[in-house]
Amino acid sequence: MSDFDYDLFVIGGGSGGVRAARVAAAGGAKVALAEDNRMGGTCVIRGCVPKKLMVFASSYREGFSEARAYGWDVQDGEFKWPVFRDHLNKELDRLEGVYRKLLDGSGVEIFDARAKLADAHTVEVGGEKKTAKHILVATGGHPVRPDMANAHLGIVSDDIFSLDKLPEKLLIVGGGYIACEFACIMAGLGVEVTQYYRGAQILRGFDDEARGLIAEMMREQGINLHLGTNIVEMGAADADHTASWTGTDSDAAMGASARSAGDLVPEGGKGGLIWVKSTNGQEGVYDQVLFATGRSPNTRDMGLEEIGIEVGRRGEIMVDEYSQTAVPSVYAIGDVTNRVNLTPVAIREGMAFVETVFNGNPTPVDHDLIPSAVFTTPEYGTVGLTEEEAREQEEIEVYCTSFRPMQTAFAGKPWRVLMKLVVSKANRKVLGCHIVAPGAGEMIQLAGIAVKMGATKEDFDRTVAVHPTMSEEIVTMREPMRTA
Ligand code: NDP
Repeated sequence: MSDFDYDLFVIGGGSGGVRAARVAAAGGAKVALAEDNRMGGTCVIRGCVPKKLMVFASSYREGFSEARAYGWDVQDGEFKWPVFRDHLNKELDRLEGVYRKLLDGSGVEIFDARAKLADAHTVEVGGEKKTAKHILVATGGHPVRPDMANAHLGIVSDDIFSLDKLPEKLLIVGGGYIACEFACIMAGLGVEVTQYYRGAQILRGFDDEARGLIAEMMREQGINLHLGTNIVEMGAADADHTASWTGTDSDAAMGASARSAGDLVPEGGKGGLIWVKSTNGQEGVYDQVLFATGRSPNTRDMGLEEIGIEVGRRGEIMVDEYSQTAVPSVYAIGDVTNRVNLTPVAIREGMAFVETVFNGNPTPVDHDLIPSAVFTTPEYGTVGLTEEEAREQEEIEVYCTSFRPMQTAFAGKPWRVLMKLVVSKANRKVLGCHIVAPGAGEMIQLAGIAVKMGATKEDFDRTVAVHPTMSEEIVTMREPMRTA
């Protein structure tokens, strides 16, 4: 043991910080961890986990009519938000308890307090100063609202899980992961959803063909998706605004005018109605406006720049390939570094940090070919390059097929899926795999292994199909749809 209070002080109890703390402590290091919110961080408490449970909840709605097509005598049910929300809260309490137990069990000392850096080896936490040989910043990020008047009337993704009631009419602003996932979830739960995205197509940065199909399927499930559209003005709705609807969206207009004046709460936002004017000239009134307009790293008032740590334009901590900052004793991992903002990546970065710093084995994090999923309906699983990226890089062949899957086609549903491989013409390697389908998140995990191993199209072809499945198409596409 050195002259320091701890070998490692971790700031932030999310997936990355907790994993690094536990693994370092298990290796014999004296470790402390500070968290000023609930243990588990964004993923467990306000992100992936509650979101996925909401995806499951929303998926039952279609199930009723499908079941009837398969001979079941069932009626459509009614979704009771308070029942689900209370069950969800119990589950999150349980998971938080598991995280605490894991830390306790590994001998990590927990500070339930905000911590900030005082110098290269000192952390201020709960009014005390604690020293550590190494400090790991894993404080994550937070959702941001656009810089416009009355934006505080809208909610952000953190607020969804504790809503008193589900909105009847919801406007979602944004076209990224969070916007599209919640548009599908809320539509599935019976909410009337309008979505504004300022760009030409949702899910910027993903494969164009996949984006197109997801947008089509979102509209098919009743989401009122407006592209090239943004809010220009918003405020608490008053009787004038609800009465003077000027939009062309007749459903929305009916919804607004159908309310009695007694329903109006002038404050708007959390409980009141919100009036919105958009760039397409329409006005609308919504129970809630959800801003899914991106996330920012949690680096404010942490004493970072004061001690020489470089912070980037978006507020992210600048690190090298070993997650080390400009101050050699301070490392940073996860969303606070704004590299690849995904939980499993933060966990990898945490493990690589421990390997580098405590096991004497410098380990850079491999950020290449990371499979991921967007939990829209249908889901989108992706690994590797998009067709557009690959085309810029080299000559390619594109193998793809889009079809109505057996299970829902039998029930007369319009849902379509997409299976797509982007293949290098020169060395036949599969450069990218894109799947839009129910369960695509599960499928892409496995396809990701093959792509990461450098599998060629011929390796895929040599694999016998599992029949009848949707994913068998991934090994049975014989002719390229196009070359580029
Ligand atoms: P994204 O950055 O993915 O999307 C933000 C969206 O908001 C974009 O469509 C952006 O438009 C739009 N936007 C930004 N500013 C404004 C503005 N002022 N007015 C109108 N629109 C605006 O952020 P998310 O919040 O959706 O997700 C954050 C991160 O969380 C993701 O990058 C991902 O790493 C992670 N995540 C992962 C999930 C998963 O793995 N399934 C699920 C949820 C989140 P434009 O495209 O024009 O910039």
